[in-house]
Amino acid sequence: MTLTDAAHGFVDHRHWEPAEALRTADPEVADLLAAEAERRAGGLQLLAGENLATEAVLAALAGPLVDKYAEGYPGHRHHTGCAVADATELLAVSRARTLFAAEHANVQARSGTSAMLATCAALLRPGDAVLAMSLEHGGHLSCGSRANFSGRWFDFIGYGVREEDGRIDLDQVRELAKAHRPKAIVAGGISYPRHPDWAAFREIADEVDAYLIAAAGQTTGLIAAGAAPSPVPYADVVVAATHKLLRGPRGGLLLCTGELAERIDRAVFPFSQGGAAMNEVAAKAVAFAQAATPEFGAYIRRAVDGARALAGALAETGARPLTGGTDTHLVVADIGALGMTGSQAERRCAAVGLMLGKCAVPFDPAPAVETSGIRLGTGCCAALGMGPAELAEAGALVGGLIAGAEPDPVAARVRELARAFPGNAGR
Ligand SMILES: *Cc1c(COP(=O)(O)O)cnc(C)c1O
Repeated sequence: MTLTDAAHGFVDHRHWEPAEALRTADPEVADLLAAEAERRAGGLQLLAGENLATEAVLAALAGPLVDKYAEGYPGHRHHTGCAVADATELLAVSRARTLFAAEHANVQARSGTSAMLATCAALLRPGDAVLAMSLEHGGHLSCGSRANFSGRWFDFIGYGVREEDGRIDLDQVRELAKAHRPKAIVAGGISYPRHPDWAAFREIADEVDAYLIAAAGQTTGLIAAGAAPSPVPYADVVVAATHKLLRGPRGGLLLCTGELAERIDRAVFPFSQGGAAMNEVAAKAVAFAQAATPEFGAYIRRAVDGARALAGALAETGARPLTGGTDTHLVVADIGALGMTGSQAERRCAAVGLMLGKCAVPFDPAPAVETSGIRLGTGCCAALGMGPAELAEAGALVGGLIAGAEPDPVAARVRELARAFPGNAGR
């Protein structure tokens, strides 16, 4: 598994230019994409789920497999001419299995949500009870929202975190599991800055004879780098994502036991998808190889150390980081004490190029559209080479601005920071 140096290069979005063919054929879309590159280069991207795909990943996405129809799985396709597609998918699967020490990997799911849909299809019947982190406490909408297939077709019961320390309340998980006897328990969410105790979840699942599903999309890259405990030895199915901290293409990834391999594969195709996007599969293969390198490990450490520094700096401004800090790239902070709602803070920060998201905090007194919190992630900034010093400064700027600092000097400093880290750093 060797990659050239170029594969570790970071895309310099400031200098992104539409290819000649696009500029000629469709200047309107070319201009829109150029504007997006400019927008991104002008500020600090602190949205928790966003990252910068590497140049090698982007090249694979734009390669000839974008055109290939390859319904089915290697060796069992519904289309002809699939020898290269087969080899590519086998490579992606083998790299994923090695990287995560998993018995089986499915690399076809198009997104985190479709990976969760396939998991539910493989393990459950409509109407089955599922115990998962409630949306208000950090769960994803594919874990029980009424607006989503999950809440519509299954009976999701929510567990939460303890009010005093923000940690998952495992006593409550056990109590609810015993009371409702769910068919599956989902461990983890999208706004939880600590590592779920996978072993404890396994124990509870075993006590009630439930499947254990790990929702590990946010931290897939951390798990790959060994910077977060792996759920693979404990969970029946791990729902992962390749576009967050892994820096791969937008996409889902399923890891499971050998016993469930066939059920999971069939639940992806043909149950919930048609032909896989083979260019995405190729790009996932590239991302898995990148994630096995020491350079990627250093990147992940920078992201996690940066998040700790960011949480510390935010706390000094009077914001309250949930759980008192973070073990991941994620920071969720209650900003109630700063006198602004999450939604107001999001707008005020975006106006100076600090891109972060409003976020409901557990036991949030504010309406869901307003919220009392913000959520930030360090994936993009670390990908540009920023470390704890810059991310601490970002935290101070965010907290200061929400607490009422003049926006103009903050905007000027954000532009300076963005200019100082234009990309191609951190090799
Ligand atoms: C990101 C994430 C999702 C959603 O992924 P999409 O690709 O946006 O559908 C679902 N579940 C978890 C745990 C995630 O981290």
